[in-house]
Amino acid sequence: MDRQHGKGLSFARRIYMPRTIGLGIGSISVAAALYPLNLPIWVWVLLALNGFVWPHLAYQLSSRSAFPYKAERRNLLYDSLCGGFWVATFQFNPLCTVTILAMMAMNNVAAGGHRMFLLGSLSQAAGVLIAWSLFGAAFTLSTTQLQVWACLPMLTLYPLALGMVCYRLAIKLSEHKRNLSALSRTDSLTGLLNHGAWKDLLQLKFRECSQRHEQAAIALIDIDHFKTINDTYGHLIGDSVLRQLSVELKCNLRESDLAGRYGGDEFCVILPNMPLNQAVDVMERLRSVLQDYRHGEVPELRVSLSIGLAAYQPSFTDATAWLDDADKALYTAKNTGRNKVSVNTNNTSLETSSA
Ligand code: GH3
Ligand code: MG
Repeated sequence: MDRQHGKGLSFARRIYMPRTIGLGIGSISVAAALYPLNLPIWVWVLLALNGFVWPHLAYQLSSRSAFPYKAERRNLLYDSLCGGFWVATFQFNPLCTVTILAMMAMNNVAAGGHRMFLLGSLSQAAGVLIAWSLFGAAFTLSTTQLQVWACLPMLTLYPLALGMVCYRLAIKLSEHKRNLSALSRTDSLTGLLNHGAWKDLLQLKFRECSQRHEQAAIALIDIDHFKTINDTYGHLIGDSVLRQLSVELKCNLRESDLAGRYGGDEFCVILPNMPLNQAVDVMERLRSVLQDYRHGEVPELRVSLSIGLAAYQPSFTDATAWLDDADKALYTAKNTGRNKVSVNTNNTSLETSSA
């Protein structure tokens, strides 16, 4: 299937308003330039259709098309063709020509960069040739006072409309960028920070601790026998346990604490500005909350946590050393019966609590 299928509807919507304004007020400048030339009535009818009917028809054509983006680009080339036709028909009246062609060039560049500018210029040249073949090549190299006034709305209002469209687009893009960046830092199952994002923050907190001599602790939290939970109750129940742990992390930590999913059934937390004994209390509370958790569908399911804690030490040369200490403490918790909080102090893991 063509990858362009259905694409570009928002492009067509975005162009609708500036085209309606541009062609509406642009036709005033064209009318002022045509007025002294004594042209047949069908030219005036054509101008009215181009100025006031075509913008709505163009939108219908592109929005109903299976390929709105392609249809809208085609519409932009018709706009340029008509622009070229009108400037040659009113015999290149200087101010009106510059007004129409400059606004159209701005529109084409905004819609499709230099490529659209080039294609638009070729379409304008084609429009000029059509007009010359109908009326002959002629030039009127002066502009009347009335024509100056008639060009002013186009010169002021159209850039405003186009600028507004570009501004709205820039705001939308920056919102998308923010959302994407947040998404790339979030673990999709739990909504917590993902591994990479948490580790970036660990580096940051490590630097803060070493520069400001602050206290802080980190915790690595692992669900005991999680594989057995998956094997016994299924992965969906396993997932809900992971989500429950993330909910409890959010409920039991401060706003300033930074919780993430380290990977699999392992979670990680940075507890800034917190002495170690307080961090032990927080983790002990979390362990106890999860121990009391009962799953609605499988009430017999029991969840226990092994937690390794490490305080920031000025002797650490980098964040990895800090993480290593927490990892050793977790290893101790796992190897001394699980369901407990262990602390690593000066390369000695102490079991501070257990169920
Ligand atoms: P221990 O007590 O030593 O921590 O053992 P364990 O079974 O908890 O640890 P192990 O590392 O052997 O198993 C972790 C399991 O977690 C294996 C993997 O299939 C499962 N797992 C990893 N990610 C997910 C996930 O997103 N959802 C679910 N349901 N399971 C996951
Ligand atoms: Mg585990």
